[in-house]
Amino acid sequence: MESDIMQIKIDRVENTRIHEVDFGNIPFGREFADHMFMCDYKDGKWTDFRIEQYRPIEYKPAMLGLHYGQTIFEGMKAYRNINGEIMMFRPEDNFRRLNRSAERMCMPTIPVDLMMEALRELLKLDSGWVPKDTESALYIRPFMFATDEFLGVKPSETYRCIIFTGPVGPYYTTPLKVMVEENFTRAAKGGTGSAKAGGNYGGALYPTKLAQQKGYHQILWTDSIEHKYIEESGTMNVMFQIGDALVTPPTGDTILQGITRDSVLTLAVDLGIEVEERRISVEELKVAHERGQLKDAFGVGTAATIAPIELIGYQGKDMVLPPVSERLLSKKISDGLKAIRYGKVEDRFGWMISMN
Ligand SMILES: *Cc1c(COP(=O)(O)O)cnc(C)c1O
Repeated sequence: MESDIMQIKIDRVENTRIHEVDFGNIPFGREFADHMFMCDYKDGKWTDFRIEQYRPIEYKPAMLGLHYGQTIFEGMKAYRNINGEIMMFRPEDNFRRLNRSAERMCMPTIPVDLMMEALRELLKLDSGWVPKDTESALYIRPFMFATDEFLGVKPSETYRCIIFTGPVGPYYTTPLKVMVEENFTRAAKGGTGSAKAGGNYGGALYPTKLAQQKGYHQILWTDSIEHKYIEESGTMNVMFQIGDALVTPPTGDTILQGITRDSVLTLAVDLGIEVEERRISVEELKVAHERGQLKDAFGVGTAATIAPIELIGYQGKDMVLPPVSERLLSKKISDGLKAIRYGKVEDRFGWMISMN
């Protein structure tokens, strides 16, 4: 992808808002750091790289991205390790995935090096916003949307790409109650489920609302054809411990290639845990549960890392899982991941990138 030689114009804010944030009690996704990075795509290339104040941006009502859904995003985190350095967890993988989402949505790709450089500059300015405790992080939201002022349904010719950030505490604070969905679909074969495209999330809100009215937090999505096989949970990949094995569905065009998923599997193999990437039917879970073999279930994703599932609702009955305190295998993996992220152990996988 062609781009001008990157020169980032930096317009630093005069007054930081950091003192308004209670870092001891950060809600998820409501606090935003002082600056954002922006650039625009026109005439076939990315231009106008700049960092300025996080603030409202103005568009005409006919902006294409608002009508036909050419919008994609990423979610990643910067951590302050125990030596005070600011570290990113596998950020290049996120930017590569942003480009895969872009291709699926007929949007321009953006060089990974360019995004890394932009992120470095942004984090230099807002380094004070990276929380200092090991329960929190700076969430980073890169995203891209179509900006043509045009009402025809076709790929836009112009786009904006933005990166903004905000400090976050833990995403879920209690174990999740999830419900097996047998009617609605998050992603279908041949669809856009493997892209982080805005519409996927909008379409999931209604079935999620119905599940919440029944007392669950999130949906356990099944395949769109038979509604028999497990896919994801909410907006996370999902894993189960059946007997001693860690089992998760394979990624494909209906299951997002999660970076947390990949990291958890890598760590599990390293810990000598038996890992199986294969289809899992709801029926299999039911039988395993009846036999006392369903030891653990959890969602995996950047926002929550490992989110334990307390129970799985299926056809009006709940399969209650063992108490979280007994789930030693996922605890071991979760602790292992945390130790790498906060620099408490050697990063043998080369996942951490210093942003200082
Ligand atoms: C972002 C996302 C995930 C998790 O991906 P990570 O790279 O681990 O954050 C899983 N499923 C869906 C649908 C997602 O949007």
